[in-house]
Amino acid sequence: MLCWLAMAAAFNFSVPDSALPGIVWPAVPDQSGNILLTLLFQLEQSQWWPPERLRAAQFSQAGKLLRHAHQSVPFYSKRLGQAGYDPEAAIDEESWLDLPLLSRADIQLADKDLWSRALPKSHGKAGKIVTSGSTGTPVEWLSTGLTSIFWNLFTVRDFLWRRCDVSGKLAAIRYDRTGSANYPDGAALANWGAGFASAMPTGPCSFLSIDTAIAQQGEWLARQDADYLITHPSNLQALIRHCAESGIEIKRLRQVQTLSELLPPGLRALCQEQWKVPLFDMYTTQEAGYLALQCPEHPHYHVQSEHVILEILDENGRPCTAGESGRVVVTDLHNFATPLIRYDIGDYAEAGAPCDCGRGLPVIAKIIGRQRNMIMLPDGSSHWPLTGYEEFSGIAPIRQFQFVQKTREDIEVKLVVERALSAPQEERLKRLINSKLGYAFDLEFSYHDNIARSAGGKFEDFLCLVEN
Ligand SMILES: [Zn+2]
Repeated sequence: MLCWLAMAAAFNFSVPDSALPGIVWPAVPDQSGNILLTLLFQLEQSQWWPPERLRAAQFSQAGKLLRHAHQSVPFYSKRLGQAGYDPEAAIDEESWLDLPLLSRADIQLADKDLWSRALPKSHGKAGKIVTSGSTGTPVEWLSTGLTSIFWNLFTVRDFLWRRCDVSGKLAAIRYDRTGSANYPDGAALANWGAGFASAMPTGPCSFLSIDTAIAQQGEWLARQDADYLITHPSNLQALIRHCAESGIEIKRLRQVQTLSELLPPGLRALCQEQWKVPLFDMYTTQEAGYLALQCPEHPHYHVQSEHVILEILDENGRPCTAGESGRVVVTDLHNFATPLIRYDIGDYAEAGAPCDCGRGLPVIAKIIGRQRNMIMLPDGSSHWPLTGYEEFSGIAPIRQFQFVQKTREDIEVKLVVERALSAPQEERLKRLINSKLGYAFDLEFSYHDNIARSAGGKFEDFLCLVEN
């Protein structure tokens, strides 16, 4: 508990806006603020629970979710019935592992059969969400008012863990769904997020579309004089490099946060070296919200166990032990509209040992990557490609690259270059790339002014389009 007290003291927790006439302090916030703070109070304690207590609480919540899914979701009535599910039996580690996994293909096939016919009214209105990956067909599912509350809750926990001074200014360079955050002005927002503003008033937020050219982003960011920055890792890397090359100083900044993509090796060090600020990464998905936040004391991640059961499974479907890598399987404990139970989200991660910070929340040592970012060799085996910007730029003036594997033998190498490559440069680059990839692929270079981000603003430097 000492750690929590120390953290609370360091954190500049602003007094919420009071909703009662004549009362300013201590504040009595409105209903949404009250719900958020009630949940936050519980999270402040549960993070220190021992793993066994967290697990028991998860299973009691998962039991409620399973019964609801079995009773009201056609897909699960059938699937759980076939798996011998007994609604009366308590869940334990072994019975949990007996539950079938849910694949992306299952979600596409089941379609509306995955939607509950009896969503509790108190969970709030259901809203449709569609994700379209770079490959495959889109996946549709429902969110609820409650899942939004949990999204906001873990956003606020993240501020606490990072000891943010929330009265400061946030600059966000992210995907802009609305088209209102274009250069040169971007969008000026009153707070860091409307969904939690009544529980935690914050300073202002400046928002710029991530599709803005890097040089313009650098100019915009310097102009914002912000305390905090949030953006995607690939964008941050390009931005830091541009600022260093152009002599742009980012003076006031205290921290950078990254999301949505794999953190490239060396980016934390680059951020510290060039901007003299720490980088905090987090692990979220559109389907299940916050999965893990970076530990306040270490660069590894803590699973957000109050919201998800996150499993890292080996090839035999058994949980990985510390140091082992496997696929990430997620259960959202609170989505009763489209229950996602043991959903194989297509990511791979390395399990970590318990953390010395004192939190009982499980550790993810490393997020390794997505299945679709793995290279496929002609024999059908896959691995994550070891490609590196630094080495490529040692051969030719390359600004940006993306590999698109089209068949088991053919890879298109998309390049953005400062000036055209000579034939010997192309040859040297081909040799280096193939030595890194571990096979003599047929490489086809193509040249571009800019390589576009995929839906949602993600950038993937290796994309495999070959079907398994
Ligand atoms: Zn920790």
